[in-house]
Amino acid sequence: MNIKLRRKAKPQSQGDSDTNGRVTAAEMYQVQESYVRFNQRDHMGSQMVWEAQAKAERDKLKVKQRQLTDKGRAGFEATAWSLDSAADSLLSLMDFSKNQADAPATAWQSKVEPSPTGRPDTSPKEASQIVRKAAHLFGADQVGFAELDRRWVYSHYFDSETKKDYPIKFSDEPGYEQYKHPIRLEDGTRVIPKEMTNVVVLLHEWGKDVDGTDHAPTLLTEGLSTLAYARMAPTLWMLAEFIRGLGYNAIPAANDTALSIPLAVDAGLGQVGRHGLLINPKVGARCRISKIFTDLPLEALGAIDSGITEFCNACLKCVPKCGTQAITTGNRSFEALDESNASGVFTWKVDAKKCMTFQNRVGSTCSTCVRRCAWTKPPLKIYAVPRFFIRNFKWRWLNKSWVWLDDRLGHGKFDKQADDFWVVRGN
Ligand code: SF4
Ligand code: SF4
Repeated sequence: MNIKLRRKAKPQSQGDSDTNGRVTAAEMYQVQESYVRFNQRDHMGSQMVWEAQAKAERDKLKVKQRQLTDKGRAGFEATAWSLDSAADSLLSLMDFSKNQADAPATAWQSKVEPSPTGRPDTSPKEASQIVRKAAHLFGADQVGFAELDRRWVYSHYFDSETKKDYPIKFSDEPGYEQYKHPIRLEDGTRVIPKEMTNVVVLLHEWGKDVDGTDHAPTLLTEGLSTLAYARMAPTLWMLAEFIRGLGYNAIPAANDTALSIPLAVDAGLGQVGRHGLLINPKVGARCRISKIFTDLPLEALGAIDSGITEFCNACLKCVPKCGTQAITTGNRSFEALDESNASGVFTWKVDAKKCMTFQNRVGSTCSTCVRRCAWTKPPLKIYAVPRFFIRNFKWRWLNKSWVWLDDRLGHGKFDKQADDFWVVRGN
């Protein structure tokens, strides 16, 4: 099968010139010269902590959730409540917060001794195979490798305890040259050693089928999203320690430290959809992204153009299903809607404030766009056929035909009952 644009990423420090004819996420999304690294403080998840209005909105969500559960609303029954609580209990036990850097499961320092035999003598290709195998053993569903483009690392990380943001620096910046291991300095600044130029990107699915999102927007879907994080946390923890055991540095991260979506694009795991989420060709948008920065040499194969941008241009299925017009019918843009979007990147911008407010109305983190996305499909081989055509023939009329066929086949119907979820098929 002919895969176009299967190309290797280049780190920012080497500039943008494409001497190997390879494409990066920054090139795919035409990052402008004026682009500045995003401050995590502006992310909606952080604003809910430090900004009074956003925090008040978020507090309403739990109240609404409780009301719907008390009323016995479908998808908010005791079973959904318990699923979410059970998954969350593991995260509490691990003291894991998806937005907080250097929490115990994402610690910047090791708790294990490196192997006494020292760094193994492996090529980047062999190391990639070993890390891929280990990642799957530790629970990841998909694994990719990228060279680190520093533009995607936050300029500042946000600390939810102090409610302040602090700089992230690299050890080739003046004043930080002495640091050989990831460190948090006394003033809160974090330093990433300049040698950590590789990233392992991991995907964890919500459930093992579209079950994971078929019940959006309910607490059942939210519970499955929490469960994806509960599976992600131990994977990150163990894989980071595995890499350190080989004698290398590792910084595990969930939504903290860097923008996950462009790193996943650079690792060949998907592209950005109209709904602003990663679309992975195999599982659509029903996945959570995490990453590990390392100095272990890895084989980065680069971004893959699967035709997703052209498909989104023709599709728009998620737009009418968003109850608050947070997803645009328009074209991609460099302009941010507000501070919670990164500007200078040519993508569809989602109105995060509208999205957050709507979540209070439905009493869950919504995810209707994940459910409605034309790429969110069961893991059936038959979908390889349209995916092949979408990737290799980026014709608008053909993409429109796939959308039409999808509708005719009844995909994406909102006809699931919450009780369906608990029916066990097979053994
Ligand atoms: S999560 Fe819901 S409200 Fe937010 S963009 Fe998606 S469909 Fe719209
Ligand atoms: S539903 Fe269609 S337009 Fe929306 S993100 Fe998915 S593929 Fe793109």
